[in-house]
Amino acid sequence: MAKHKTHFEECDVLVVGGGMAGTGATFEARHWGRDLKIICVEKANIDRSGAVAQGLYAINCYMGMQWDENQPEDHVRYARNDLMGMVREDLGYDMARHVDSTVHMFDEWGLPMMKNEKTGRYLREGKWQIMIHGESYKPIVAEAAKKSADKIYNRIMVTHLLMDEAQENRIGGAVGFNMRTGDFHVFRAKTVIVAAGGASHIFKPRAVGEGMGRTWYAPWSNGSAYALPIAAGAKMTQMENRIVLCRFKDGYGPVGAYFLHLKTYTQNANGENYEKKWYDQTKELVGEYIDHHPTPTCLRNHAFIQETMAGGGPIQMVTTEAFQDPHLETVGWENFLGMTVGQAVVWASQNIDPKYTNPELTTSEPYVMGSHATCSGAWVSGPEDLSPPEYFWGYNRMLTIDGLFGAGDTVGGSAHKFSSGSFT
Ligand SMILES: Cc1cc2nc3c(=O)[nH]c(=O)nc-3n(C[C@H](O)[C@H](O)[C@H](O)COP(=O)(O)OP(=O)(O)OC[C@H]3O[C@@H](n4cnc5c(N)ncnc54)[C@H](O)[C@@H]3O)c2cc1C
Repeated sequence: MAKHKTHFEECDVLVVGGGMAGTGATFEARHWGRDLKIICVEKANIDRSGAVAQGLYAINCYMGMQWDENQPEDHVRYARNDLMGMVREDLGYDMARHVDSTVHMFDEWGLPMMKNEKTGRYLREGKWQIMIHGESYKPIVAEAAKKSADKIYNRIMVTHLLMDEAQENRIGGAVGFNMRTGDFHVFRAKTVIVAAGGASHIFKPRAVGEGMGRTWYAPWSNGSAYALPIAAGAKMTQMENRIVLCRFKDGYGPVGAYFLHLKTYTQNANGENYEKKWYDQTKELVGEYIDHHPTPTCLRNHAFIQETMAGGGPIQMVTTEAFQDPHLETVGWENFLGMTVGQAVVWASQNIDPKYTNPELTTSEPYVMGSHATCSGAWVSGPEDLSPPEYFWGYNRMLTIDGLFGAGDTVGGSAHKFSSGSFT
């Protein structure tokens, strides 16, 4: 008798991956397709899976349209500038016009959001970011998916997509195995939505010492979002657009809240503002982009790397000024305790108190992803009302394989979606 069983399941919509995009796809599939049979398959457990497993401190994509803070076209301009022109504006606009209603649902579902008590407006960390107490973020969106799906399969790793035998270039389902029992699962589906997250560990992590083994992105982001469609023959885009981030050394603590909220700044080993030293050289390389505001992230990283190669490192974040303010000191620590506990632990273990010592920054190793500040992923059809003819061949977010869709990190050409835009 065979040791492992094979299980068969049929459905209308199969969602592969139950992270931010997968829970969103499951919830929305039920909202729009009331009678459809919807299955979500996740290799971990959707309550704590994906890049948001540990929680986040900010929702990085929120327009605030009702208060006229930003409009979708402003976000398109922002993302286009940050990616130096290499974006799909139709996809970016489509996400931005719906993302606020996603965030309002999170609020209704009980996600603790930081608000101005008088106006009721969400507190902002920056132009696009709003602040949350985000430890419970993932369990909350997982609950919405659990109430929406006919069945959630946890602990099943999808290894291949299946093609329809009767129709050319049409999806037929997916197969995978149970990570605990080894049982094999065959899902026959009319549509498949791949929402399997980004790709870490392609390059060796740069963290050393107490931070050894740590990576910036979620260690369990395994690149299935790209491997599954590529193996099925789907067209991809910008897979060479790897994300390299400026982060606190060894713990990869993010710098966004420090720059935006605490108004900290960087300096080289001699205490100089090194970015302006590389202005002429960068202008020669990229032209007017260096004069744009905000400076595209990759160009700031370029100055960081050039300065380090020229011997000006280590580059430091000047925290000692902001941390004299007890409120900002609290925000600085809470930022990590709510999202990147490892950075606080690394500082404690290295005896670094950012009130008295300016912590060192580093550039991360490269990652491949489509929801953060890069555009890697599948080439998809855009929305009918916005996309030029060459970007529209069927349903919104359908890949070049009929019936196969993408969401979140899977979808290329549309950076700056982050957690809320991935769910959207
Ligand atoms: C360190 C860090 C900080 C971040 N900070 C912020 C922030 O402050 N604010 C913000 O808004 N966003 C932030 N983000 C970005 C946000 O987390 C991502 O944009 C978002 O989670 C992407 O959603 P996704 O569904 O595409 O991927 P994920 O949420 O990673 O979900 C992918 C899911 O697919 C599953 N999966 C993978 N392969 C398979 C397979 N073969 N079979 C079955 N299941 C599979 C995974 O287990 C996972 O559950 C941050 C991300 C990280 C890692």
